[in-house]
Amino acid sequence: MTYGEQEAADAIGYVDDELGDTAGRNAIEAVNEISPFEVRERAPTRIGNRMGRPEKSERRDLSPAVHTLFPIGEAGGAQRDVAAATKHADSMSETPGRVEVEVARRRCPDCGTEGHEARCPECDTIAETVYVCPDCEMEVEPDESGRAECARCETVASPTQYTELDLQSVYRDALASAEERETAFDTLKGVQGLMSEAKLPEPMEKGVLRAKHDVSAFKDGTVRYDMTDLPVTALRPAELDVGPERLRALGYETDIHGDPLTPPDQLFELKVQDIVLSDGAAEHMLRTAAFVDDLLEQYYGLERYYEFDDREDLVGELVFGMAPHSRSEATELLPSGDAPLVDR
Ligand SMILES: [Zn+2]
Ligand SMILES: [Zn+2]
Repeated sequence: MTYGEQEAADAIGYVDDELGDTAGRNAIEAVNEISPFEVRERAPTRIGNRMGRPEKSERRDLSPAVHTLFPIGEAGGAQRDVAAATKHADSMSETPGRVEVEVARRRCPDCGTEGHEARCPECDTIAETVYVCPDCEMEVEPDESGRAECARCETVASPTQYTELDLQSVYRDALASAEERETAFDTLKGVQGLMSEAKLPEPMEKGVLRAKHDVSAFKDGTVRYDMTDLPVTALRPAELDVGPERLRALGYETDIHGDPLTPPDQLFELKVQDIVLSDGAAEHMLRTAAFVDDLLEQYYGLERYYEFDDREDLVGELVFGMAPHSRSEATELLPSGDAPLVDR
């Protein structure tokens, strides 16, 4: 039985023995058994091909690009420039850098300090969200499911507040705590307002480090790169920036004819889960790795993890690719930090 026969039988729902052994197993044959004229298959043979789109390979930035998921209102202009926002004032009588934004409403369970930050600025305890009814302005305790509804007004209580932030001090503190100078980047771009329900601003230090390494944040704070799955099946070591020895060490021992892999122009088959990066993707991965290392060291006080110097260091690394709208991730080995095949 070839592939598809059982599926056809299942789709018909039964196999009629009177029609003979094969008739009911193939939908088109079954139709022809009772049809007064011959019904032919729409496409008796299908020849398929998968086409990669190397030109679709690029960094995924929001428009305009965002370095820090920190709200600065209208003060940053069209560029959402944080530095410009710290100097902005609507009129001569206003203090520059003061912006009214909607952010989280939180309170420290230990010392009672109120604010909008994830951790208490006084004692570093993780603060808790405070829900307030928009109708009667009473505080509402969330139930076990985390839903906060005012018992009196039957209105859903809000976890956010409108408050005035002093961008000058936020910006200055972020630079100091990330141990970076303003000259480390061109422009630090924030957002006009936060879109999430909780509206918890991100620590601006993360944005400072993203701007330093020229990577941007997607809506959820991830750094992304879009790449269509390229149908590369076979290549030559010379087409990659990887020598035959390094390839052998990664398990590429023979070429397509089974001969030992030695000369750089030998054709070999790419293993199923391995990927070849475009120049742009390799560059972006290096920048992202440098950002993650700085974040670990300068923000979290942990050790650097990747410590990549150049793209050769990417060869053999394990990566996870995320396919949107499907629930699979593939574990892949990078055979190269470069692919002239998809050079742009
Ligand atoms: Zn506290
Ligand atoms: Zn109420």
